[in-house]
Amino acid sequence: MAEFNPKYPLLWHKGDVYLKIFCSIPQLATGILLKVKETPFVIDPGDGILRDLSSEIGQNGILKIEHIFVTHGHHDHIGGLWALLTYLNVMRKKGTVSIYFPKGCVEIHSIYKAFFEVYSNELSYEIKLVEIKNETKINASEIEILPFKMKHKEKINGLISEVPSLGFKFFCGDVSIFYSGDTAYIEKFEPLVEGSDLAILEAAAGKNENSEMHMTFNEATRLGKKAKEFFIVHTQLEH
Ligand SMILES: [Zn+2]
Repeated sequence: MAEFNPKYPLLWHKGDVYLKIFCSIPQLATGILLKVKETPFVIDPGDGILRDLSSEIGQNGILKIEHIFVTHGHHDHIGGLWALLTYLNVMRKKGTVSIYFPKGCVEIHSIYKAFFEVYSNELSYEIKLVEIKNETKINASEIEILPFKMKHKEKINGLISEVPSLGFKFFCGDVSIFYSGDTAYIEKFEPLVEGSDLAILEAAAGKNENSEMHMTFNEATRLGKKAKEFFIVHTQLEH
């Protein structure tokens, strides 16, 4: 299985579009920076995102953040959100930060509520919650984003339930990037991945077949080959 474990960070660029996956490890953290010209977009602000953004784009770059995309509310995808939002306030960011997340994602609502309770009387910027209910394109600064519903589940006390989750396809001029978030394989991915300049695909199910929560290496790799380039991420660490 070791050959599937990528060595983070993963870097990719094409024209004005630059992407860095700081890390994407199940149960630990996922954090991705997309930069189009000088505009930064954060995708899945997992634990460590503030530290990683700080060394990558510094304070000035972080203060330019206006859009944060969240695939789902599991801790390994949002664990760094509080730190990032607080840092923006401490550094007196102006303007708005929009957080895009799937409808029904209770974690984002809870973080926002607690954050607002603590900082509302000294907030230097506005936080806009954008709860995504359908698969319609969104405009964010100079890019367009198509969100789509994924198939992700969790098991609590033996009970399996559906997790509100999204994948995103980013259109940055003529460069397109597909990001699966956490999901089991669904057929509808094929046309979305087809022809993308980059596909970022999770394969947390590894060699297990028929996972209802994640994709297998085979599924992710087969899908990835439909894009011009691809990264397999979110694979289980071997110990
Ligand atoms: Zn998850």
